[in-house]
Amino acid sequence: MDLSNPQVLKSLLSRHGFHFSHKLGQNFLVNPTVCPRMAEACGAAPGVGVLEIGPGVGVLTAALAERAEKVAAVELDRRLLPVLEETLSAFSNVHVISGDAMEMDLKALLREEFPGLRAAVCANLPYYLTSPILMKLLSLRLPVESITVMVQKEAAERLCAAPGQRACGAVSAAVSYYAEPRVLFPVGRGSFLPQPNVDSAVISLRVREKPAVAVKDEAFFFRVVKACFGKRRKTCENALSSGLSVPKAVAAAALERAGVPKTARAEALTLSQFAALADALYGVQSA
Ligand code: SAM
Repeated sequence: MDLSNPQVLKSLLSRHGFHFSHKLGQNFLVNPTVCPRMAEACGAAPGVGVLEIGPGVGVLTAALAERAEKVAAVELDRRLLPVLEETLSAFSNVHVISGDAMEMDLKALLREEFPGLRAAVCANLPYYLTSPILMKLLSLRLPVESITVMVQKEAAERLCAAPGQRACGAVSAAVSYYAEPRVLFPVGRGSFLPQPNVDSAVISLRVREKPAVAVKDEAFFFRVVKACFGKRRKTCENALSSGLSVPKAVAAAALERAGVPKTARAEALTLSQFAALADALYGVQSA
């Protein structure tokens, strides 16, 4: 079944009495070149298990199943289960799991689904879930080599911005801490049914074996990063003081110990500077 053909997709969905849910970010891919490119980019191959979040009608799932040893696909919308049963019936290496990827124990799922296999994540993510799901995947330190996902174009630029670059935000700093991100290719809005109001891009996060910088306390490091970006227009001294509720003099002293100018703004800081700053403040707080 050619799921990339909008007429085929429409008639499949109408046969199942399915209506798109905007709330669940249901924009299904109908560009035949995108799924094979994503499947190749994520490293789907014999010996590799791929976790997909949100298979929809299974168009990307099929491209993954043709290449990978096994695909485990987590879908929240139960109305799609009978559709997936039909569209993926030719594949014996696909397991569709009904549930919410945000609520699931993904570490246990990977252990159960892919014993002895290398693992990767590949998905066309619902827009509303982009940052929370990526933060969950990364902070859990799942045993996956890479995360290849379709996201909104602006989100792709932000997520892949290196610390020290203008577009960088708290999420990009967190992404760089756990992974090496890069934008792979753009995907126009016309590649989806229904057509969204924005363009997309596929990004690849190559997961680091260990985080990019060493810090005394990871949770505190992220609090410091968030505090600095919390008040983007403010200097780090002011942002830290209000974000962490510490006196300005404490923030200024920590900045000096970390070798960061008091007047610097968050987007100018490198990951090493954030780490030095967090460690300097952590010492002060626990003293
Ligand atoms: N992979 C399909 C494609 O490329 O055509 C569908 C992608 S669509 C952008 C996002 C999919 O994620 C939908 O099928 C939606 O129902 C599903 N979804 C939304 N929230 C989810 C969640 N929390 N857990 C799992 N799946 C979810």
